[in-house]
Amino acid sequence: MIKTSPSDISKRYVGQQIDVYGLVLHVRDLGRKKFIIITDGKSILQIVYSGSEKVRRGDTIRASGIIKEDPRAPTGLEMVANNITFLSKSIDERFDQWSLRNMNKDKKIKYRALLLRLLEFYKVFEEYANVTQYLREYYRNLGFLEIFTPKVVRMGTESGSEVFSILYFDKDAYLAQSPQLYKQMLMASGIKGVYEVGSYFRAEVSFTPRHLTEFRGFDVEVNYIEDYSEIMKILEDSVKYVLSKLELSYPKEFPVISFKDAKQILQEKYDIRLKDDLSTEAEKALGDYAKKEYDSDLIFIVEFPYDSRPFYTMRKEEDPKYTYSFDLLYKGLEIASGSKREYRYEILIKQIKEKGINPERMKWYLEVFKYGIPPHGGFGLGIDRFVRQLLELQDIREVVLFPRDPDTLEP
Ligand code: ATP
Ligand code: MG
Repeated sequence: MIKTSPSDISKRYVGQQIDVYGLVLHVRDLGRKKFIIITDGKSILQIVYSGSEKVRRGDTIRASGIIKEDPRAPTGLEMVANNITFLSKSIDERFDQWSLRNMNKDKKIKYRALLLRLLEFYKVFEEYANVTQYLREYYRNLGFLEIFTPKVVRMGTESGSEVFSILYFDKDAYLAQSPQLYKQMLMASGIKGVYEVGSYFRAEVSFTPRHLTEFRGFDVEVNYIEDYSEIMKILEDSVKYVLSKLELSYPKEFPVISFKDAKQILQEKYDIRLKDDLSTEAEKALGDYAKKEYDSDLIFIVEFPYDSRPFYTMRKEEDPKYTYSFDLLYKGLEIASGSKREYRYEILIKQIKEKGINPERMKWYLEVFKYGIPPHGGFGLGIDRFVRQLLELQDIREVVLFPRDPDTLEP
């Protein structure tokens, strides 16, 4: 049975005798009467009680009484309780609302579970859940298949140095950096498209406000792709769907500029010189440019140099130094990367060799390309980054319940 807790209480309960369960957030004891605020994270409820028992912060109670309207109560509703049962007593009631709110960054991670007693922190993680739900919903409605691929894998996919190695019985193995090879292999079935929500691992040694060593990705792979702009369109439409569900505005069309043009703009307007990839400061500047020039928080940068993209990226037919690839920036930060994939067996082998990988090690992946596979493409979107940008928070750790970075392995 799901028990009634503060977030269930609405006007329709007024006048009814009910039981409500919650965790005590705050107690104001006036001697004859106590005003007890209980929470379930999502909402609070004031309980008015005249019993003599001592109620402490952190206690879990079942309160029985009548729901009344009272404009002085924080939610406009309160329970006048005739009985309170203690289901659990707190041992240490140090953490009041004030001390939870004013914790430093490290403590906010350490006491994450307690922090969720406060509505403003609960809301962040509710927003995270909503974003994930709406993305899933969008791709499911397109008729794509939700997939689950292994996170213990034989080799890294994105770049050699950032992998976590593990011992898998007597074999060397790695934690997956992305579902890339698996989602591509499934394209050989002729399926329309697939999507996956998963945790991925990258041994990023540097400590930045946009990198975690374990992050959550929303990955999509789409079949029957003729031009890479088709993939961008799908990504754009799904981001618009999420923003519209959250009742946020978005540009009619996301602006698109090529890496080459971006390079020039950055040099001329921002005095930033680029090599083969966007730097953090370049992403920030392009976010600023998108806002000023197009009044848009979102911008696509397309056709990155082959040197900065993984082996599976398709090169431009007429200019093979560049690729059919794109990044989506949101408020000046990369949130997604994608491309049309190289699906032609011989060329794929050539590109694997060029990137210094031994194709023998990838036979299990390469095989399917021999038996026929549609032209396909896709992208990976960082959910943590998306939510960080959406809520305009400073650090990616603020949107992750139990973040992992080079210094954090607990809780
Ligand atoms: P960056 O250059 O910013 O380190 P990337 O280009 O290496 O990212 P991709 O391989 O393109 O990352 O991964 C796809 C998406 O996954 C990124 O656009 C980003 O949103 C997210 N992502 C990648 N690495 C991380 C990480 N370490 N922490 C959080 N999110 C990440
Ligand atoms: Mg990228």
